Amino acid sequence: MTDSLAIVGAGAAGAAAAYRLRDAAPDVTVFEKSRGVCGRAATRRRDGCRYDYGANYVKPGDGPVGDLVRDLGEDGLHDVAQPVWTFDGDGSVEPGRDSDEPKWTWEAGITQLAKRLFARTDAAVHRETRIESLSRAGDAWTLTDADGTTHGPFADVLLTPPAPQTADLLAATDWDDDRLAAAREAVAAVPYRSIVTAVLRYDFDVDREWYALVNTDGAHEVGWLARESCKPGHVPDGELLVVQMAPDWSRAHCDRDPDWQTDRAAEHAAALLGDDRLLDPAWTDTQGWRYALPDDAVDAEPVAAVRDAGLHVAGDWVAGEARVHAAVESGLAVGDRIR
Ligand SMILES: Cc1cc2nc3c(=O)[nH]c(=O)nc-3n(C[C@H](O)[C@H](O)[C@H](O)COP(=O)(O)OP(=O)(O)OC[C@H]3O[C@@H](n4cnc5c(N)ncnc54)[C@H](O)[C@@H]3O)c2cc1C
Repeated sequence: MTDSLAIVGAGAAGAAAAYRLRDAAPDVTVFEKSRGVCGRAATRRRDGCRYDYGANYVKPGDGPVGDLVRDLGEDGLHDVAQPVWTFDGDGSVEPGRDSDEPKWTWEAGITQLAKRLFARTDAAVHRETRIESLSRAGDAWTLTDADGTTHGPFADVLLTPPAPQTADLLAATDWDDDRLAAAREAVAAVPYRSIVTAVLRYDFDVDREWYALVNTDGAHEVGWLARESCKPGHVPDGELLVVQMAPDWSRAHCDRDPDWQTDRAAEHAAALLGDDRLLDPAWTDTQGWRYALPDDAVDAEPVAAVRDAGLHVAGDWVAGEARVHAAVESGLAVGDRIR
C-alpha cells in the first residue's frame, strides 16, 4: 500500500499528475470512465476526418506547459497559423482578438496531449472504469467502480473529474471525518457553463482568412465557430466546421434532438459566413458538454484541509481557469506535492 496513488480521470490534469510522478516512488493507477483519454480535450474520427470537438487547442500559458508540450515531441504538433477573428450579436465579423501565443493541436488530434503524457509513465490506465465511491479505513483508501469491483488500498487518491462529478464522489465517500463535508460543499459550489458543440461537414472548401470566430459581446446564440481544415491532417478535403453554441442557448436546448441542434447551428454558420451552401452539410455530429467550463475556482482552504489524509483534487476548476494548460499546471502541482 505504501506509496500508491489512485487517479480518478485521465484528462489533462490526471495525465499531468501521472507524468510528474513518472520517476518517483508511487505506483500510479488511473481510472477513466470513458474509452479514450484526455477528457474535455477530445477528438473524434469519421470518414477520414479528425476533429477536436471539445477544447480547440492548447495554449502554453505563462508556466511550464510550453516547454512540456515541446518536450513531448514536435512530430505531429501544429500551431494553428490562421488568426481568430470576432463577431458581435448582429453577426458582424471583424479582424482581431488573436495573440502571438501558439494555438497547439496535433495532427492526430488534441488527445495526443494525454496520450503522450501517459506514454512516458508506467501508470496503469484502466479505461471504461467509472469510480462510484471511495472509502477510508485506517490510513488507506479503496475505490469501488460501477461494476462493484473494489480497487486498492491506496495511500493517496487524486480526484480530477469536473467539480460537480467530484462532489458526487465526495458525497459517496465513506470517511468519518468532519473535514469531508466542508470539502464536498466547496467543490459542489463551483459554477459551470454548458456548451452544445455542433459539427458540420461540407464536401466543398470554405476559404477564409481566419481559423475561428469568437463572439465577444455574449449577445449571439453562437459562442465560437472554427474551421477544422486549418489543422493539418484533420480534414482531407472540403471543410468541417466546429460550432460551439453559447452557454444560455446550450442550457436551454441541450436536450433537443441533435438534428434540430445542427440545423440551428448550420443556419447560424450560413448567416455569419454569408454562404447559403452551409445550410446543407454532408453529415453532422453533436456533443452536449453539461459541465463544459468552470466559471470560478474552488475555495482552496477546505480542499487543502483533506490533503494530509491523502485526498487530493486537480483540474481546471482547481486552477480557476477553464483552459487545458491550467488543468495541466494543476495536475503537475499535485504531482509535486505528492512527490
Ligand atoms: C466545448 C469546449 C471547448 C473548450 N475550448 C478550450 C480551448 O479552446 N482551449 C482550452 O485551453 N480549453 C478549452 N476548454 C476547456 C478544457 O477542455 C478543459 O479546461 C480541460 O480539458 C480540463 O481538463 P481536466 O483534466 O481538468 O478535466 P477533464 O478533461 O474533464 O478530465 C476529467 C476526466 O475524468 C473522467 N471522469 C469523470 N468522472 C469519472 C469517474 N467517476 N470515474 C472515472 N473517470 C471519471 C472524465 O471522463 C474525464 O476524462 C474547452 C472545453 C469545452 C467543453
